Amino acid sequence: MKASHRISHITGGGSDGWGLFYRARQMVAAGLPVTELTIGEHDIRTHPSILDAMDQAAQGGHTGYASVPGTHALRQAVADRIAKRTGVATTPDNIMITPGGQAALFASHHAVCDEGDRALFIDPYYATYPGTIRGVGAVPVPIAATPDHGFQPQAADVAAQADGAKSLLINTPNNPTGVIYTCDTLDGIAEVCRTHDLWLISDEVYDTQVWSGTHLSPRALPDMADRTLVVGSMSKSHAMTGSRVGWVCGPPDMIAHLTNLATHTTYGVPGFIQDAATFALNAGQALEDEVGAPFARRRHLTLKALEGQNAVLAVPVDGAMYAMLDIRATGQSGESFAEALLDAENIAVMPGESFGKAAAGHVRVAMTVADDAYTAAIQRIVAFAQDQAAKKQ
Ligand code: PMP
Repeated sequence: MKASHRISHITGGGSDGWGLFYRARQMVAAGLPVTELTIGEHDIRTHPSILDAMDQAAQGGHTGYASVPGTHALRQAVADRIAKRTGVATTPDNIMITPGGQAALFASHHAVCDEGDRALFIDPYYATYPGTIRGVGAVPVPIAATPDHGFQPQAADVAAQADGAKSLLINTPNNPTGVIYTCDTLDGIAEVCRTHDLWLISDEVYDTQVWSGTHLSPRALPDMADRTLVVGSMSKSHAMTGSRVGWVCGPPDMIAHLTNLATHTTYGVPGFIQDAATFALNAGQALEDEVGAPFARRRHLTLKALEGQNAVLAVPVDGAMYAMLDIRATGQSGESFAEALLDAENIAVMPGESFGKAAAGHVRVAMTVADDAYTAAIQRIVAFAQDQAAKKQ
């Protein structure tokens, strides 16, 4: 029996660009001492106070079907958080709770794209983006944000692809680059969305991880609240990756459609998880700061390790939990550099090419191991790159 075209083509065929990640995992399984700087997963676990809230909710009986768009308390907590952070009036009617940001990305594209519609997204991109778009039957169209523009998408490049497109997906603070989109970038993008009647899907799952500059939610820009769906998540802000809880924030009529979609797909998010998320959001910023602190420290360690040499250059690490390193001075692709680094040093980093063509000649370092091990790894990466650059000459 044959699977549907839609599901059998989600990955788009060919390599998924994660070969190195799987090879590193095999080496770990074989007992080799590999330092894994590959995926965006904290090296701390969910805070005990959040787990206590989860336990109390479950023991207290919140284990039956929960309200499909989310509990009122959590939708209120998310709405309050967004209103406070962005200044845009937001109520529970603007919020639907989803099983993580990934489900929110899928639901958002489902809500705005019809079969065969063109859905724009920025390259470099978080690995699931093209597959998410294909998964709803739309056609993914990458728009390069190149290193010579500091990985900031250019409005003219978006406009050049916008005719007949339905949506544009952006992500700031950005995975994989660690770049935060500037006001100018977002103003330009918003203008293209208004002119070309595009939905903007704004992935802001790293909005609490800002190390330099300011995160601006484009929903707050003039006339954008009615055409923007913001994707949020507890995964990164509260080290709750495994709890699978996130949200879409958008106009109430879209939230009603998304609720219908959830009724026919996920049937909501477990109540005790939602109660834990409500507790975590109401605990305030101190908890978010605690979760983000290791990445702020390691960003500093990265910049220090890169001083005084030019075999490796850092793309400004303004936000999120990644350092994007420009290794073009070694003369290698991100892929060949990462493969050779894994063989020579037992250090696994992601080739830039895994995140699209625009990140070629770069590698992404997830700042997700303890400070000492991280410092040692980043110093060895720099030494290795210096070696490779010297051999090239
Ligand atoms: N968007 C981006 C940019 C991400 O990096 C991730 C996870 N790595 C997600 C969305 C999805 O996160 P989750 O489903 O855990 O909320």
